[in-house]
Amino acid sequence: MPLFDHPDFDDHEQVVFCSDAASGLRAIIAVHDTALGPALGGCRMWPYASDEEALRDALRLSRGMTYKSALAGLPLGGGKSVIIGNPRTDKSEALLRAMGRHVERLGGRYIVAEDSGTGVPDIKTMAQETTHVSGVVEKATASGGTRSGDPSPSTAYGVFVGLRAAVLHRLDRTDLEGLTVAIQGVGSVGGHLARYLAEAGAQLWVADIDEAQARRVADRVGATPVSADAIFDLEVDVFAPCALGAVLNDGTIPRLTCPVVAGAANNQLAEARHGQTLADRGILYAPDYVINAGGVIDVYHERAGYDHGRVMTHIERIADTLTEIFARADMERKPTAAVADRMARQRVGRAR
Ligand code: NAD
Repeated sequence: MPLFDHPDFDDHEQVVFCSDAASGLRAIIAVHDTALGPALGGCRMWPYASDEEALRDALRLSRGMTYKSALAGLPLGGGKSVIIGNPRTDKSEALLRAMGRHVERLGGRYIVAEDSGTGVPDIKTMAQETTHVSGVVEKATASGGTRSGDPSPSTAYGVFVGLRAAVLHRLDRTDLEGLTVAIQGVGSVGGHLARYLAEAGAQLWVADIDEAQARRVADRVGATPVSADAIFDLEVDVFAPCALGAVLNDGTIPRLTCPVVAGAANNQLAEARHGQTLADRGILYAPDYVINAGGVIDVYHERAGYDHGRVMTHIERIADTLTEIFARADMERKPTAAVADRMARQRVGRAR
């Protein structure tokens, strides 16, 4: 399909098709908008079934990054890159360095970070060819130690404070003692979120397609493991999707009885109309790119001079942004996701 007629094309500033015959690299870098600053976004590696599927992901995800950074109050635009290939079998130093060279050619308009299928070591390999990388610096922790550049603990902290704001708004509760929460996916972010919630006294159910992982996290935090399918049917206060996109759809929403959905996964709504479906069922939805912005905030501060306290304070502002979105959505009788999109577009529009 031609790019300019693509349904997910949203006046992206630049879309670059990258190749390197020697290493087998085939990739797409999408720079959606740089009105607020350079376009920062992860590099996803995935065995896409077609170029069209890869293009769609790059277009959608880069636009999401523009909205995410705008509502997180960051001087950053939105971009994303995708490498077409299996991260387990197709990744090589030559391929990652070739990708680094393509990033370098954009002269800083796009800053690459880790995403599904790439990790800190991969971005460090790209950094041999480009300075426009993020998510690679060792960071100080609250306990005085250090941790890797992986932003997922910060993402989890943002989801935790955002979930608390949603619970306050919908259930009028200021503490989480005894709050019941079902977490879908307890990988990097879901695992940290489970710890924060358990420490706050919440009662947890966890599911993961990797059942051993679900059991490990459950043992660590005192949660109850359930099957990946059963997680939708639990009578809980909060459903926290921390696995895949498109998890809120025609099949799953009717099964939910919780008053709040607040989790880390990107692109949770299968289609925009599902924001309205949730609202019609009286479920308060914390828009995904607002509540999961802790990671990009963390990565931004790495470039601006990392100070743990300052990063945590910035992440805590996610709760204020969500509270504003919830209040406007109530007032205007609109789905929270639609209100968030409009606020993000307004911020970018003002910067232009
Ligand atoms: P991860 O791969 O570490 O964890 C995801 C977990 O979900 C895995 O353990 C996987 O086995 C499990 N899973 C997959 N499909 C499942 C299913 N159908 N049911 C139950 N469990 C399932 O990924 P992550 O870094 O924790 O990210 C989780 C989500 O949050 C993703 O959607 C990601 O895009 C989003 N996100 C992550 C960050 C970050 O900082 N890592 C930032 C923003 C958004």
